[in-house]
Amino acid sequence: MTEILDGKETARKLREEIKEKVSELRERGVRVRLDVILASYDPASATYVAMKERDCAEVGIESRIHRFDESVTQGELSKLVDELNANDAVSGFFIQLPLYSHLDHVPLISKIRPEKDVDGLSPISAGNLAVGLPALLPCTPHGVIQMLKRANIEIEGRHAVVVGRSNLVGKPLSQLLLRLNATVTVCHSRTKDLPGITSQADILCVAAGRPGMVGAEFVKEGAVVVDVGIHRTEKGSLTGDVLYDEVAPKASYITPVPGGVGPMTRAMLLYNTVSAAEN
Ligand code: NDP
Repeated sequence: MTEILDGKETARKLREEIKEKVSELRERGVRVRLDVILASYDPASATYVAMKERDCAEVGIESRIHRFDESVTQGELSKLVDELNANDAVSGFFIQLPLYSHLDHVPLISKIRPEKDVDGLSPISAGNLAVGLPALLPCTPHGVIQMLKRANIEIEGRHAVVVGRSNLVGKPLSQLLLRLNATVTVCHSRTKDLPGITSQADILCVAAGRPGMVGAEFVKEGAVVVDVGIHRTEKGSLTGDVLYDEVAPKASYITPVPGGVGPMTRAMLLYNTVSAAEN
């Protein structure tokens, strides 16, 4: 019997917990505030930021959006990062990607103080995760782990296969699984015999960004399947990297798309902002 890992419901519960935490902090005189730098043509980025603003309002986190038009310079954004780093009223902040094409996000993200790096994407945060020091964790991999833990899925000693090695998802997810004592295999576009490897996984996490790439032949009977991929179809609906209908009957647990990893990613940003405020 396959169980669906309901990210929407888990994220709802998490938001309730976060809301309580925010009000506890407020009673202790600690305000929780998230700032966002938005300097992009990308209409999807504006939509994501609006969603994050709504999420913050729902749990009582203040939010400020720093919007820029195309005339913004690298120097102006760099100065803003310095200001946000120094401003004690700001619990945490992040830069919504992609930026306008004349801007380079790498030096900007690299300057974010790790205590305020709620996306967990700066090289210092990534390094802290790699060496096992406390760090704010990237939202998507952290959301995956929270979902597995809250469903009481055992991680220790199991073979976890992660498809994808991006800095955003695959790499930090494999490190988190390793930290939780899974035996981890990381696959990527040059991996040979991908189905041969993924079909050995007890826990299969797919973050390849290839719609419907993973069919039943990639999956071991009884595996836990986490689909990180998210794609808009021509008809306007959302779909993942995993062919849900053919994989679900083989899986013990599976995340749907939509309603799986996506809502958890959003909730973990709030979680990180509260952690930053507590720090
Ligand atoms: P990237 O494009 O940065 O990375 C994709 C990774 O998958 C790369 O490491 C690439 O390998 C690997 N890959 C690509 N094709 C194959 C293949 N045929 N076989 C094996 N490996 C392959 O994507 P992201 O990590 O940023 O995102 C992955 C997916 O997750 C996307 O669909 C994205 O939209 C989604 N996403 C969803 C989120 C959510 O909240 N649900 C949040 C973030 C992302 P190589 O390194 O060799 O190129």
